[in-house]
Amino acid sequence: MNNGEKMLHFLENHQAKAYGNYINGNWINSVSGETYTIYNAANNKQPLAHFPKSTPEDVNQAVSAANDAFETWSVLPGPERGAILYKVADMLEENLQELSFIVSAEQGKVLNESMGEVLRAAKETRFCAGEAFRMEGKTLPAERQNVWNSTVRKPVGVIAEIAPWNFPMITPIRKIAPALAYGCTVVYKPATATPWTSARIMELLTEAGVPDGVVNLIVGSGSTVGDSLVTHPDVKGISFTGSTELGQQINQLASKKFAKTQLELGGKNPAVVLDYSNENHVAKQIISAACTCSGQRCTSISRVIVLRDKKDELVKALSNQLEKIKIGPAWDDNANMGPLVNKGHLDSVQNYIAIGVQEGANLIYGGELLEDEQYSKGAYMKPALLDNVKASMRIAKEEIFGPVLTITEVDSVEEALSVANDVDYGLAASVFTNDLSVAHQCAEKIESGMVHINHGTASAAHLPFGGTKSSGFGAFSIGSSNIEFFTELKTVYVEY
Ligand code: NAP
Ligand code: MG
Repeated sequence: MNNGEKMLHFLENHQAKAYGNYINGNWINSVSGETYTIYNAANNKQPLAHFPKSTPEDVNQAVSAANDAFETWSVLPGPERGAILYKVADMLEENLQELSFIVSAEQGKVLNESMGEVLRAAKETRFCAGEAFRMEGKTLPAERQNVWNSTVRKPVGVIAEIAPWNFPMITPIRKIAPALAYGCTVVYKPATATPWTSARIMELLTEAGVPDGVVNLIVGSGSTVGDSLVTHPDVKGISFTGSTELGQQINQLASKKFAKTQLELGGKNPAVVLDYSNENHVAKQIISAACTCSGQRCTSISRVIVLRDKKDELVKALSNQLEKIKIGPAWDDNANMGPLVNKGHLDSVQNYIAIGVQEGANLIYGGELLEDEQYSKGAYMKPALLDNVKASMRIAKEEIFGPVLTITEVDSVEEALSVANDVDYGLAASVFTNDLSVAHQCAEKIESGMVHINHGTASAAHLPFGGTKSSGFGAFSIGSSNIEFFTELKTVYVEY
């Protein structure tokens, strides 16, 4: 059997199970007594699992468990915490197949992407495991004799972690692994749409030896449980990934009690195309970064800004690449783009295409809904390419979060940079050029947290990840920058 057939077999034999919240090492129903069901993103008649609709009272229980567990977890030597995380990484790899079926089933992405996501999660976990051995402070000279001065890093306490639905595996791991490495405990809230992978992660963490109460899971609507989680006095830090609007709201609430925040928000990421040796290489990089996860990535490329004399050639190459995209359910081994997460989100993306056309853009490729036979059980569309897009149009300014790419022509490098920066967001950017000096100028002047020269907006498992402007706030996640968020400084003076 190939992987697709194995996934179908897995789904055919799957019985939807009822999960509770995971609090202090136990699966507990919500005090609300209410539940909801999630369905296969590519077969919306198939229930996958049932989850609680949690309440603020459930949140209080989870925070209390995390707060109690902090006392012992925070003083466990770093290398011991790291050893548990190494085990978690191994277990992610050992369970690669089942985990990628779960990710694809609840989110919709094709199997290759889910497998990549699980393997990436294992890599990030290993990096964090090593960080548990490297909680470095400094020693400094004293002003007086017989005094020893140092700074040490202390875990901040209970962290509330809130996630969107686009990366059900990597987002929980990216938030939980560093928290554990640095000695914090966690209450994790997945998106309502994709809690299943998170529930499986709780089981794996426990099997790997994470003690009860160190990581807790609360499932339920953000509008019901979000505020109680963010404002709880025992929550000392909030790591949030999601929309800019919610990020602002959460930051305001957190600031009232001086809780730390790490906010990973939206993007409107440009590919600035200046010159190249091979237009097909550029097009391949751009289309991959625009259509991976059906464009539902915060770092998706959504704007192409191209010098006028290169435009026609590039548009042709982009269209050729788009032709190669085969759309289908995750278990179709030939498919390289799955459905969007659900119908509601598909409608929002479709609405943006209509707005773009009304604003005067030309829809030159795709964009249409796919609804016949094989597509009738998921939210499918062809990726869209819109030409003649002015920098002032809404489709060039607002995050669409779908497989929609706009083309804007410019006359100079200066104009390209000015258009690239003419948005509220500043997450990731790509620049294509053969001129080393121009490459450095662009890397310097583009207003984004991450810049990629001559490749698409794909990040690595150990490099700081984050945005500027409305795309992020607080310490970058991934890599060594996490220490700034999950720990705080203490200065120690010793007279001997
Ligand atoms: P969202 O609507 O902002 O939701 C994110 C999370 O916040 C969900 O778990 C949501 O719960 C929860 N939430 C809702 N109301 C809340 C409240 N009042 N207080 C606290 N939490 C609350 O985002 P989304 O629609 O799931 O995902 C798309 C967005 O995420 C895009 O803007 C995208 O750019 C951004 N994103 C950013 C990054 C990054 O690293 N920069 C990565 C991925 C996605 P419910 O699910 O119950 O609504
Ligand atoms: Mg939302």
